[in-house]
Amino acid sequence: MDFVPIGLTKQNDGRELEISWSDGWVQSLTVRSLRDRCPCATCREKKAAEQKKSGSGIRLLQIVSEAEMQPLSLVRMTPAGNYAYNLVFSDGHNSGVYTLEYLRGLSAGVSG
Ligand SMILES: [Zn+2]
Repeated sequence: MDFVPIGLTKQNDGRELEISWSDGWVQSLTVRSLRDRCPCATCREKKAAEQKKSGSGIRLLQIVSEAEMQPLSLVRMTPAGNYAYNLVFSDGHNSGVYTLEYLRGLSAGVSG
C-alpha cells in the first residue's frame, strides 16, 4: 500500500466522507455508498442472497425499516491495524472493516 489517508473530513451534515490521500487525491464518498458496500460477512451474504432472489424472477417488495429511512451518517471511524478502518454507522452497523485499498477502489467514475 503506497497511499495513506492524511485527512478525514465529514461533509454535508456527516452524510459524506472526504478522504485526503498522501498522493494529493481528495476522495469524496457518500456514507450511503460506504454502507451499501460494507465488506463484512453479514452484508456480503445478504447481498448474495438478494442477487439470488432477483435472479429467480420472483420480485418481492422492499422492506425499509425506520432506521434505514433516517439520513445515514458515520458515528465513528477507528483504525483497524495499519491498513484498515472500522466504520460505525448511525444505523448501528459496526462490523465493517474497510482496508485502505478497498476505500481507494470505491471511487465512482474511475476505471477499476
Ligand atoms: Zn456489514
